[in-house]
Amino acid sequence: MDNYIEYWEQALTILEAQHKIGALMITIYVKPAIPIGMTGDTFTIMVEQNFLKEIIERKYSESIEEALTFVNRGNPMTLNIITKDEQAHMDSVKKETKPAAPPVEKNINFRMPNGLMPRYTFDNFIVGTNNQMAHAAAISVSQNPGTSYNPLFLYGGVGLGKTHLMHAIGNEVYKRNPNAKILYVSCETFTNEVILAIQKHENEQFRQKYRELDLLLLDDIQFISDKRATQEEFFFTFNDLWQNGRQIVITSDRHPSAIQNLTDRLMSRLAGGLPIDIGYPNLETSVAILRNKAETQGIRIDDDVLQYIAESVKSNIREMEGALTTVIAYSKLTSGPSSPITLDIALNALKNTINSFKPEMNVEYIQSVVANYYNFTVEDLCSKKKTKDLALARQVAMYFSRKLLNNETLVAIGKKFGGKDHSTVMHAIELVGKKMEQNPEFEVQITDIEKLITGK
Ligand code: ADP
Ligand code: MG
Repeated sequence: MDNYIEYWEQALTILEAQHKIGALMITIYVKPAIPIGMTGDTFTIMVEQNFLKEIIERKYSESIEEALTFVNRGNPMTLNIITKDEQAHMDSVKKETKPAAPPVEKNINFRMPNGLMPRYTFDNFIVGTNNQMAHAAAISVSQNPGTSYNPLFLYGGVGLGKTHLMHAIGNEVYKRNPNAKILYVSCETFTNEVILAIQKHENEQFRQKYRELDLLLLDDIQFISDKRATQEEFFFTFNDLWQNGRQIVITSDRHPSAIQNLTDRLMSRLAGGLPIDIGYPNLETSVAILRNKAETQGIRIDDDVLQYIAESVKSNIREMEGALTTVIAYSKLTSGPSSPITLDIALNALKNTINSFKPEMNVEYIQSVVANYYNFTVEDLCSKKKTKDLALARQVAMYFSRKLLNNETLVAIGKKFGGKDHSTVMHAIELVGKKMEQNPEFEVQITDIEKLITGK
């Protein structure tokens, strides 16, 4: 099957069947994207606006890549998302579209049943001053699990290699002992499992599953803040494993003490294993990472080009890799698959992505994200219509306007919602707070929306 549109259709079918991404989210974010091509292991889709690109990249690209990889018979696929503007820019220079290259003939099992991704190993992790402590601790843990750092707590900003190191530990432990019971879970998956277990009265089965583990890898624990039931359950799991000398590895975007609303006892457990941070890579490390990434695709790029990419995209390694993918795709498109990638090409390819639009945080922005999430329009939110679903969406938007914007008063917020008065806003805020306490699913929803808005 070499038709990328068919690939996309099948990937969508898989995503819908998997329920990893909610049906609504698939409808809002994934389905409107237009597949525009497949080159080697890169699948490119186009979206209308930059903010959609950011959301898909942040929240859904991993699941989409998994689905595409599955369609591609287990050969890893990378998702490349471009906006309409970027596409228009490419079109203006494109001479002809090359047919998609046949899939690479390697059969890496992309994600094992225990959640491990074989492609993240110590071998392809570049060590620099920013991550050498974390790397050393990870090596030590993988050689002697349960003895040195327990828990191993790695923290640092988005896209700096925490998840990579975590899988590398898992893969190494697995290599040394294929019988070891290992599980990688994201905090989101863990939370969903807790909620399901409570609903189905299957707490015991849930605990049993975790109690058996030799190595638990829990990714992005910061999302546990505000989730009482999940924290409780994790505390039990943690104690069980820890007392039995089983290894626990945790990542977070911040130090345990900075995770809000964490119960004290969980906090002290998490901080107990000496948290280690991963910082931003310097230029040299960034270039080494990019070179490594290009080489694994069999592509040689001059250091000055890599340096340009690294300097242009300082924020994180994932974005840097994305920029590299864009440059490679652009070069293939404009100068053919085997011509050298020059600085000029890189400059042109990245012209539109660098300095890309970052939304300004204000009431209008919050309204548009919340409206989008609930499938309404901003006009709906500001109207006088009062159907139940719409009222809730409006209340949620008011709630976030108050929570996330320091300089907006209740009166000002009311005005921006089509002239509602301040008591309506106040009422909305109270209501959302109450509903969150009573309904864990709604609480998850609110956390999701907050992530959408703040991009964290
Ligand atoms: P985080 O979990 O911290 O958000 P990831 O582990 O997902 O970040 O890393 C983002 C991307 O950057 C991944 O593709 C990963 O392989 C790559 N990466 C990060 N750090 C390194 C490194 N030191 N060497 C090689 N690749 C890296
Ligand atoms: Mg991660």
